[in-house]
Amino acid sequence: MRDENCIFCKIANGEIPSKTIYEDEEFRAILDLGPAAKGHALILPKDHFANLFELPEEKAASVMKLAKKLGAQMKENLKADGFNLVQNNGECAGQTVFHFHLHLIPRYENDGQKIGWKPGAPSQEELEETCKQIVG
Ligand code: AMP
Ligand code: ZN
Repeated sequence: MRDENCIFCKIANGEIPSKTIYEDEEFRAILDLGPAAKGHALILPKDHFANLFELPEEKAASVMKLAKKLGAQMKENLKADGFNLVQNNGECAGQTVFHFHLHLIPRYENDGQKIGWKPGAPSQEELEETCKQIVG
């Protein structure tokens, strides 16, 4: 279940060294090489799934449990003031490595980072229409 051409498969399985903060049978968590803030880490499944939609339900549940555990540990030990979880799917959503990963981003007062979006201003009718589209 690994992809020969995938760098995160190699990192997750220890073929390429990384700054590992956690490892078990299913996952490895590593420090991001281009951190948004000190401690920015990525949880990688050891098997290859391109994105959230390929990730089996049980692993999706496990990854969130692990995020909670590591997040609490990082918040405590790094004295972070807040925390973001970010998970990008698809190029237009900012995904650059096509092996599922969950970003764990400790945040600090005045860290100068901004993770967000430009808010839209839909009418009630537009919101209603979107609801219908999603629900089907
Ligand atoms: P995304 O844009 O959600 O696909 O995130 C990819 C993340 O992987 C970025 O934050 C990169 O800084 C990080 N990254 C890419 N290559 C490596 C690597 N070899 N080791 C650690 N982090 C990496
Ligand atoms: Zn992979």
